[in-house]
This record gives sequence, C-alpha cells and structure tokens, in this order.
Amino acid sequence: MAYQFIKKYCTDRNVELIVVSKFRPLEQINNIYEQGQRAFAENRVQDLLVKYEALPKDIKWHLIGTLQTNKVKYIAPFIHLIHSLDDGELWKEINKQAIKSSRIIPCLLQLKVAQEETKNGFEWNELCALLDSSVQNNFKNVKICGVMGMASLTTDENQIRSEFRLLKKYFDLLKATYFNNLEFNQLSMGMSSDYKIAIEEGSTMVRIGSAVFE
Ligand SMILES: *Cc1c(COP(=O)(O)O)cnc(C)c1O
Repeated sequence: MAYQFIKKYCTDRNVELIVVSKFRPLEQINNIYEQGQRAFAENRVQDLLVKYEALPKDIKWHLIGTLQTNKVKYIAPFIHLIHSLDDGELWKEINKQAIKSSRIIPCLLQLKVAQEETKNGFEWNELCALLDSSVQNNFKNVKICGVMGMASLTTDENQIRSEFRLLKKYFDLLKATYFNNLEFNQLSMGMSSDYKIAIEEGSTMVRIGSAVFE
C-alpha cells in the first residue's frame, strides 16, 4: 500500500512524514490513522476545525496553508505546528493567541524559493529585515523551529533541486545568524511529486497528500 511504502521510505531516512489530509473524507483519514499515522496537515482553518472535532484527539495537527490573522484564535489552543508563518503581523497575532492559550506555539517560517509568482512566503530580504528588528526576541510565545518552502510546479528536476537547495541554504544561514539553538531544526520541504528530491537535499519533514491517498 502507498502509505506503508512512503512511511518506510521516510523512516529509513530519518524524515518525518506529515500526511496532508486536505479534501479527504474522515473515513479515508481514519484508515491511515489506524495504520499508525498521527501527524496530519490541513491547509484551511475551517476544515482543520471540523476534522479536529471529529477525529481522535491524539492526532498532531499541522497547518500548511495561508493563515489569516483573524483565524489564529481558533487553532491556537491545539495546533501542533504552523508551517505557514509568512508575515510580521501574523507572527504578532500568533504570539498574542498563544499567550491567551497559555501555550508556546511551534512555527516554521515559510520562504519563497519558487520562480512562480503565486507561491506564498517571505522574500529572503524581507525576512532578514524583520529579524534585524528582533521580532524573534519580542514574541516569546512563538517558537521558530525551522523553515518551510515549496518548489515550482514543474517537471524540470534540476529546477526543483536547485530551489530545495536554496531553501536549505536559507535554513543554514538563519540557523547561523538568528536562530543559533537546538530547537531550530526542521526543514519542511517535499510533497507527493518531489519528496525524494527534497530528502536528498536535506528535508527533515515531508508533507504528502495525493501519493498517500490515491
Ligand atoms: C496540498 C499541499 C501539500 C501536499 O500536496 P500533494 O501533492 O497532495 O502531496 C503539501 N504542502 C502544501 C503547502 C500543500 O498545500
């Protein structure tokens, strides 16, 4: 079965598998849960809340899609990891809601490395300017655990590889410059079509949907 194959592929390489359950019915998610999977990701807060309510409480929920500041409050009490921190105002709001929930919320900085204009994420220079203003020290209830990024939607393997390589370079630079601590250790990159390349380029966490379910 696809899930078992991918799970073993990741485990053998010491990479964490996050199963992307967006658009999948509860029954299909439960099927993967029963095979032992506990980390799932959604890209919309509304869908995440429905599934959080309906499914077993030992699931670790990840958010991978654009997060609007007015929706942070709904997920703050339970979210395991937010992969899509891509804006200073959002950072501030996650910190505020984390304090309200008496939590420290783990987040990844989403960086734009793809050529496509449509992809979300911080531009490198924009992120550095924000970090130079010390947000990371002011928002103590947000724990930055690494970075997330997506490669371009293309069949050109060399392009995908070079975008992942760039993301790894940014990860290393951030770790050396702004986040010199053990908790900054996650490089979330790789989806169904490119996870093998991502793992070769240093991914620690892959987000896989269609290859698991189809
Ligand atoms: C949908 C999605 C994935 C998973 O995509 P698949 O191609 O189904 O594996 C991974 N990351 C993000 C940010 C997504 O939106």
